[in-house]
Amino acid sequence: MLGHPPAYGPGAGAAPARRLTVLVVEDDPFVRTALIRHLTDTGHAVRSVGTALEALREVSQVGCDLVILDLGLPDLDGGEALKMIRGLTNVPVIISTARDDETGIVRLLNDGADDYLVKPFSVEHLDARIAALLRRLGAGASTASPVLRVGALAVDVQRREAALRDAPLDLTRREFDLLAFLARRPGVVITRKEILAEVWHHTYGSDQTIDVHLSWLRRKLGETASSPRYLHTVRGVGFRLEAPRP
Ligand code: CA
Repeated sequence: MLGHPPAYGPGAGAAPARRLTVLVVEDDPFVRTALIRHLTDTGHAVRSVGTALEALREVSQVGCDLVILDLGLPDLDGGEALKMIRGLTNVPVIISTARDDETGIVRLLNDGADDYLVKPFSVEHLDARIAALLRRLGAGASTASPVLRVGALAVDVQRREAALRDAPLDLTRREFDLLAFLARRPGVVITRKEILAEVWHHTYGSDQTIDVHLSWLRRKLGETASSPRYLHTVRGVGFRLEAPRP
């Protein structure tokens, strides 16, 4: 059960119908670890934060497909956090609460929560809620299409395959993550900080690491920094992936 010190079972195994990027907002380390572990085991990409303010930053700057939001956070009341998230995005939000308080839950649903779980809850219950939510939203409502297309570049995030003009690209795990992250927002400048957080799961690190991986990726795309086609460096800021102009 999540919400109590967790009893870990073997990974649930079955791949999810769709790989989501889930933001776990939870200050309790036991629950947080268990959620991350379970969601990762079931094939989702997970980011986690322990405060409402960090959650707002993640939602506004990085984006995700689903938020699991604990109501009892150290900095802001979860209900307030929910309203602020709703002010930024329509991303699905599942509330996780220790309070089985009907009036409170009704208010949260009215304030824009998509569903709720009362702690302690089992991972099966969580999976069922996520599946039900996805069904309600419909396959077409996905914020993350399984195949991202930027010009002649296709990135299949579920199969983790990428191709340029139908020719498969032989990418390392990092290179793929990097390309997929950039391809999710074509034409938008992505900062080094965002790349570090998303691809390396660090909030700080060396710019050189990113530069090295980007130069390998660039080579595999058959281009150079001085005459870029898809991958553009925006000096002092970050990078942008976009289709070459005809
Ligand atoms: Ca809490």
